[in-house]
Amino acid sequence: MSFSAQIIAWYKLHKRDLPWRKTKDPYPIWLSEIMLQQTRVAQGLPYYLAFTEAFPKVEKLAAASEEKVLKLWQGLGYYSRARNLHATAKYVSNDLNGKFPTTKKELLGLKGIGDYTASAIASFAFNEAVAVVDGNVNRVLSRYFGIDLPVNEKTGQTLIKEKANQVLDPKNPALHNQAIMEFGALQCKPKNPYCHLCPLQKDCVAFQQGKVDLLPVKIKKTKVQTRYLAYFIFQDESQQSLIQQRIGKGIWENLYEFPVLESTQKPSQQKLQQELETNYKMNISSIEKANPKPIVHLLSHRKLIADFYLVNTQEIQQKAIQKNQKLINLKDLEKFPVPVLVANFIKSYLL
Ligand code: SF4
Repeated sequence: MSFSAQIIAWYKLHKRDLPWRKTKDPYPIWLSEIMLQQTRVAQGLPYYLAFTEAFPKVEKLAAASEEKVLKLWQGLGYYSRARNLHATAKYVSNDLNGKFPTTKKELLGLKGIGDYTASAIASFAFNEAVAVVDGNVNRVLSRYFGIDLPVNEKTGQTLIKEKANQVLDPKNPALHNQAIMEFGALQCKPKNPYCHLCPLQKDCVAFQQGKVDLLPVKIKKTKVQTRYLAYFIFQDESQQSLIQQRIGKGIWENLYEFPVLESTQKPSQQKLQQELETNYKMNISSIEKANPKPIVHLLSHRKLIADFYLVNTQEIQQKAIQKNQKLINLKDLEKFPVPVLVANFIKSYLL
């Protein structure tokens, strides 16, 4: 039996029942693929359900406000994906009459769609014979063929893509691609794969040579930087507070947060005082720390260590408000899309 026939047979027995697998409509397939990038299925599924309920058609997503899209996306991370998703929905809805392109080549022209996503949509929705290569496929093929070139470098990736297209069943690309990804997710897992029950065991080079734990090879590239965030939760006697929208390019672009002092070293009390005096000219009656222990949030390239300070004042005056800031009542905080670190703090300490 061919590689493809074996994994398809395995898939028919073991696949998870997931809503985006029951359709050929490119819109929900595209939504699910964007959501599941760097996200586990269990975490992405509730977001997928919320999005398809709020925006059952691409035109609905296109017509939504960015704030609403970001709010629904809150917690899923990598917010540039949500912004690109929204931009692409507008383009498909307004310029392409609501119809997604039907080939990998054309799909690659859409914002936020790279090689993997274009191959996934082209094969799942339109049955184009193109192989998908994601983290799961990298792992399965590295092990099966015993490839020890780094999968996150060009030489390794070129070889994996070549092998992925070589094993693809051109008559059955949708089923084959779904099968190999699911096989990587459930059977040929990163740790403790089920080799003893594996249909590919006999021809799997890594298994035969005892190298399963050594593959795939990945080169560590990014050095994790530590950043300290000191958030100021101003509150006056009528429960008014300040929030600000994150401007400039970055993973939290356009999300809201409390005014913040960011630094590469833990700020001293004196530094906090100085920041308040220089940038927030108001009569401050007291400052107290709201979280007993620093809140640590890990991103792929950064470790964020956050503290939140309640800054009490009689009245927040208009002249103290900066351009990207808004005066809001604290009880309305939940209406704004915020980074998950801030959302967790609000849930634990403010509600
Ligand atoms: S034998 Fe083990 S390493 Fe090889 S494909 Fe099967 S699960 Fe993966």
